[in-house]
Amino acid sequence: MGAYMQLAEQRAAGELIGLEERYGAHNYNPLDVVVERAEGAWVTDVEGRRYLDLLAGYSALNQGHCHPAILRAMVEQAHRVTLTSRAFRNDQLPLLLEELHRLTGFEMALPMNSGAEAVETAIKVARKWGVTVKGIPDGTAEVLVCEGNFHGRTIAVVGFSSEPQYKIGFGPFAGGFRAVPFGNAAALKEAITPRTCAFLVEPVQGEAGIIVPPDGYMREVAAICREQNVLLIADEIQSGLGRTGSLFAFEHDGIRPDMTTVGKALSGGFYPVSAVLSSREVLGVLRPGDHGSTFGGNPLACAVARAALRVLVDEHLPERSAELGAFALERLRALRSPHVVEVRGRGLWIGIELNRPARPLCEQLGQRGVLCKETHDTVIRLAPPLTISREDLDWGLGQIEAVLA
Ligand SMILES: *Cc1c(COP(=O)(O)O)cnc(C)c1O
Repeated sequence: MGAYMQLAEQRAAGELIGLEERYGAHNYNPLDVVVERAEGAWVTDVEGRRYLDLLAGYSALNQGHCHPAILRAMVEQAHRVTLTSRAFRNDQLPLLLEELHRLTGFEMALPMNSGAEAVETAIKVARKWGVTVKGIPDGTAEVLVCEGNFHGRTIAVVGFSSEPQYKIGFGPFAGGFRAVPFGNAAALKEAITPRTCAFLVEPVQGEAGIIVPPDGYMREVAAICREQNVLLIADEIQSGLGRTGSLFAFEHDGIRPDMTTVGKALSGGFYPVSAVLSSREVLGVLRPGDHGSTFGGNPLACAVARAALRVLVDEHLPERSAELGAFALERLRALRSPHVVEVRGRGLWIGIELNRPARPLCEQLGQRGVLCKETHDTVIRLAPPLTISREDLDWGLGQIEAVLA
């Protein structure tokens, strides 16, 4: 063992980066900060430098890094039992399902692992509902999606992306998807046909650059879907679980979708856990054998998710997001910078649109001890842990102001 396994502490950052570049696929272009440990809103690199994390694992770390309550639940559960597979039952899954119901109001849930899997699952369920309940001929059901969407990286999902890089070279793709402009309810209404089983939408588009739709959009969309007997699927994998200042982003419009996907912060960053939340009518279309996952609903994942949800409630993270988000947005909007085109956001989820590439500014922020990441070349995305202190946030915003000035 010792011959080929050296401890990370013995390796310098440059050497670790070299190993990653040499032996790993280059499907990311990360900032060259080699993180060794983290706590709350702060991470420490292998050289002992500390950074304020304003990305929070794309919102998987809403509860902050290594939250002690989630860590405890994970370690305790790992000592008991980690995996049963769904061939047998375990004592954690029923409790997670009940707690999801109590917290979100949805009647049923189907646990998966990654976010993309939850989206694929929602699409499968919507299609089967379309065939068995709505009466769409099998194999012809259509799902409407939005331009600028991001729902993950599986073949079916990238097949309906409007981002060329996500698709080029990866076809052929699954049929049965059509895109309509985001934020335009009339275009959705126009596009619905008798074969439409669902409309899949992010209530706020995350990867597209924190795009908040016009007021009332989700409410209109919900009404159209109800009238036309089309399922409304809200992908809340990034926008949900407190990020926008409420438990779900769709609450801002006072609506309830037929299905919601959650992931990312469902585990507080410890472990991949996702789920599809819906009604008995919709999830009830699945029969034993229709769908599954070896790790989906495993007791370790469920114990972690239960603890992560408890932190969200006990620490009032949606409320914190609303409060700190309003503070940050006001401050950034007051910023006078020749580089800033627009500052937008909802809760502690903010996009700073620039008239120049955002990457060099993110690198400068890294040198000042602040981690954030560009999205779509010209947008700086801010999504700090919702547990961040006002003082730390204030300091981080000061660094951003300095770099943009
Ligand atoms: C991150 C994300 C996904 C995909 O989640 P993975 O866990 O990376 O598969 C899906 N939908 C939205 C809105 C996301 O932000």
